[in-house]
Amino acid sequence: MESRPETRKSLRPGVTPLDVLRLVPIHCGTRSKMLGPLGEELRRVFGVNVEQRYPRFDPELAYDSSRGQYNSRLLLAALLAEAPSGTGRILGVTSVDLFIPVLTWVFGEAQLDGAAAIVSFHRLDNEIYGLPASEDLLFERLRKEAIHELGHTYNLVHCHDDRCVMSSSTYVDGVDIKSARFCAECTRIRRGKGANRPGSAEPGSRPRG
Ligand SMILES: [Zn+2]
Ligand SMILES: [Zn+2]
Repeated sequence: MESRPETRKSLRPGVTPLDVLRLVPIHCGTRSKMLGPLGEELRRVFGVNVEQRYPRFDPELAYDSSRGQYNSRLLLAALLAEAPSGTGRILGVTSVDLFIPVLTWVFGEAQLDGAAAIVSFHRLDNEIYGLPASEDLLFERLRKEAIHELGHTYNLVHCHDDRCVMSSSTYVDGVDIKSARFCAECTRIRRGKGANRPGSAEPGSRPRG
């Protein structure tokens, strides 16, 4: 039987609801055990309290039978719709294969300078490439892509430093090359100490992969 931990740590004194990151497992199956360690990592990196909530919406609303994949935009909208006002950031984590209409598939999607993001470990898993399974490698990739997608919600766009976690990865090898860290410039932007890079701003209405 799948365990469904509902963890909500009480807030530290002085912490407002905006400092809360809501982690939402969507069809994670046995991999939902990775959400605890992932939440710990995100708490450390972003300085947020992390709560884990199962979705009340039916993820099948986003299933596209002609593609055999889930529309990540619809899942993002559903995550946002069920979050109470005042919720900080929301990160959906899923094992299903995600797409946006203009792309064959995506590792994830996020609102630039917004509240919601989603990440999928479907294409981060060695097994779909016919390679031996590695839970450690899968977690490492999930950690990087989760930090990357949340970085977009902190108004970070793609970075040209291929070691920076905000570099864009088209394939899983790119995820392995980059680190889980923000480069100095992305760190400065995330902390609100600098303007976003001139010339690299992407349209705000366009979701980031
Ligand atoms: Zn960077
Ligand atoms: Zn991105």
